[in-house]
Amino acid sequence: MRTVISGGTIVTAADTYRADVLIDGERIAAIGTDLARDGDRIVDATGKLVMPGGIDVHTHLDMPFGGTTSCDDFTTGHLAALHGGTTMHIDFAQQPKGGSLRDGLETWNEKANGRAVMDYGFHMIITDARPEVIEELDWLVEQGVPSFKLFLAYPGVFMVDDDTLFAVMERAAGNGGLVMMHCENGQVIDTLVQRAISEGNTSPGWHYRTRPSTLEGESTERAIALAKVAGSPLYIVHVTCSEAVEAIARAREDGQRVWGESCIQYFHLTQDDLDRPGFEGAKFVCSPPLRTEADQARLWEAIRRDELEVISTDHCPFRFEDQKTLGADDFRAIPNGMPVIEERMSLLSTDVHDGHLSWNRLVEVASTNPAKLFGCYPQKGAIAPGSDADIVVWDADVEYTWTADRIHSAVDYTNFEGTTVRGAATHVFSRGELLIEHGEATDAATPGRGKFVHRRTFEHGRPGEYLGPKTTTLQEIHA
Ligand SMILES: [Zn+2]
Repeated sequence: MRTVISGGTIVTAADTYRADVLIDGERIAAIGTDLARDGDRIVDATGKLVMPGGIDVHTHLDMPFGGTTSCDDFTTGHLAALHGGTTMHIDFAQQPKGGSLRDGLETWNEKANGRAVMDYGFHMIITDARPEVIEELDWLVEQGVPSFKLFLAYPGVFMVDDDTLFAVMERAAGNGGLVMMHCENGQVIDTLVQRAISEGNTSPGWHYRTRPSTLEGESTERAIALAKVAGSPLYIVHVTCSEAVEAIARAREDGQRVWGESCIQYFHLTQDDLDRPGFEGAKFVCSPPLRTEADQARLWEAIRRDELEVISTDHCPFRFEDQKTLGADDFRAIPNGMPVIEERMSLLSTDVHDGHLSWNRLVEVASTNPAKLFGCYPQKGAIAPGSDADIVVWDADVEYTWTADRIHSAVDYTNFEGTTVRGAATHVFSRGELLIEHGEATDAATPGRGKFVHRRTFEHGRPGEYLGPKTTTLQEIHA
């Protein structure tokens, strides 16, 4: 089957131009003018943008947390993503405490097998880096999982000490892995949390009051310093505040191989949302917490200056009715996380209209940079001959309002209820298959069609440089 997307404006991280795209099977075969006669099927994209599908490199589908499990599995989460214009994600597999990395990968493969609708990859959360686990990191890279996540938050659950972190960093320095860090000072946060509870402060607003941005900044600086000594590249996940941005900006200025990600909700929501009347603030509990408008302004500045390179979601949905309410009397028991996988691209599109970034920069931070940093470019994140045909036809002008009824996630609310956005996916292709047509899922959008993406290591250049997967061409990727 040959499909031609005709008459649209192609937007990549670098260029904006009018051309047709010819898809042959799973890949892009040609880009040119007047290709329509070559297609068995024509999708008319006149007046629309044609972009690489969104890549969300920070999600938690079907993840156990705080005595419950995030409510989207690899089918509902994928359908939500696809409706929103995202065609690939990288989820976090997790090493069981005391277990091996292989155990963790097998468990997450099981979650995705038979359920995935779009393509996906995994990072690995390291909870317990015994010497044999450090050895196992090389095996993990060979499995196509060249990114390891560690936490400086959540003592007793995920938090690692500095020597564990350092050991993983040193291994990553030698095996092409990328260390990803959740930076918040978990121990001091615990002290503040205990004090709040002992003083009778139990409402959702105390979640942000006990996780001050200074502790995110401190922890970010510490991770950067350790990576510098270890000689490893470092990717800071979900940066929320000025202090953390400043630490990353300084390190990049010095030429250290540090990259930063933020998530779209930190640009659109603030800590005031946690103080909404009643228990509604629980819907906005995630870690690190939402911050202030001044932090939002600094995040946008960081996107403009290339101090942050990725905007993802940290999608981790818990139903309000029976999951968020676990913390009705105690904010510590509110499962941390928000559903954002579907809304991300529409919010970014609105941000383009509002002058915060260009269409090219949208593609860069939401698709191309994620693919490059995580070793699947130019298979993903590109509109180029030979690349997978993961393509979104985007109506940049349609206006609508997010409501809980509109989203496709299994969750029962949206954090953007009543928010009017501008831009929606009309057609979404995944490896050449049309999965969303005029905004609706097609019969092709079936569980089990999505594939695991075996990711490559990349040459760790200086900040801002991209040297590519190690001597890899598209032919080799597809071989
Ligand atoms: Zn996360």
